Amino acid sequence: MTNYFRSNVDAMASYVPGEQPQRGTQFIKLNSNENPYPPSPAALAVLQNIDGEWLRRYPEPFGGEFRQAVSQVLGVPSDWIIVGNGSDELLSVVIRACVEPGRRVVYPMPTYVLYRTLVQIQNADITEVVYSEDYSLPLKELIAANGSVTFIASPNSPSGHIVPIEDLRKLASQLSGVLVIDEAYVDFAEENALALVKEYENVIVIRTLSKGYSLAGLRLGFGVANPKLLHGLFKVKDSYNIDAIACAVGTAAITDQAYKNACVAKIKASRIQLATDLKQLGFRVWDSQTNFLLVQPPQGNAEYLYQKLKEQRILIRYFKQPGLDDKLRITIGTEEQNQTLVKALSNLPIFPDESEKI
Ligand SMILES: *Cc1c(COP(=O)(O)O)cnc(C)c1O
Repeated sequence: MTNYFRSNVDAMASYVPGEQPQRGTQFIKLNSNENPYPPSPAALAVLQNIDGEWLRRYPEPFGGEFRQAVSQVLGVPSDWIIVGNGSDELLSVVIRACVEPGRRVVYPMPTYVLYRTLVQIQNADITEVVYSEDYSLPLKELIAANGSVTFIASPNSPSGHIVPIEDLRKLASQLSGVLVIDEAYVDFAEENALALVKEYENVIVIRTLSKGYSLAGLRLGFGVANPKLLHGLFKVKDSYNIDAIACAVGTAAITDQAYKNACVAKIKASRIQLATDLKQLGFRVWDSQTNFLLVQPPQGNAEYLYQKLKEQRILIRYFKQPGLDDKLRITIGTEEQNQTLVKALSNLPIFPDESEKI
């Protein structure tokens, strides 16, 4: 082993994102929770009219224009908003600002796998508290672990469930560290936790334009928190973390709420339809407040189905880890994509041949 890297970096595993097939190849891609509909036409029009002068100069360091737009849409003051190069960057900024070796990060499992990676880079301690079968929040254990940072994804991935606001409020009030509420899927949910940032200065709510606004390729997210908390995070972020294009396109996208709401309405309707169709095939389907479904095939042969669908150029997400290896996470696609998926599944043998068993 070389000694180029810190020992914790040598020891850690890489984050494994969902497969991203090469552009131009024909896959039905239901593995990364992307939105199946195109971004707002207003956002694309801004993109087509980018002024070279914006690119010649450094961008505004805090994504000013986009911050203003978020402030308008959410009704929070703009100095309560931090903009990030995707919400992933903001998760990383929180970790780098608040965590060092000897400090602890806490989150319930299963959840977004990136949290673990970010903590391992920082060489801090981790407490993972396993969710019970019904995905009720393990409040007592989370509070007892007393993290410098506690992550709650709500709605959560891969389960799709939302954490009740009352539970988040209890957590916020009892933790001395920072509570990160990761609302990447909030646009598909019936409620949100934004009110908590006004009540508790240790709470940051983090959102993204990747899912609800069909802009995963743009890399734009934001956090909302008390300026006292943002003050420390601003010291840590890159000075020009928001590029001029993302700022301009994102501003148009978030301002076009009508378009986003129309796409979300279609996805929610498709979510109900796909859940019904999969239940008819014998799948167990968990309730979802996101743009994906966690499902369990009748024979528990999740990896087999994942492989068979991949051969037919349909990608869904399979997690080879305890508690999830008999389940699949399926992103809601267009009506047509969902029907193709259901048809492909119904044509697969329920019991794989012995020769095909994995
Ligand atoms: C997709 C996702 C993110 C990342 O969003 P980006 O803004 O694209 O970085 C963060 N958290 C969760 C739980 C997600 O599913």
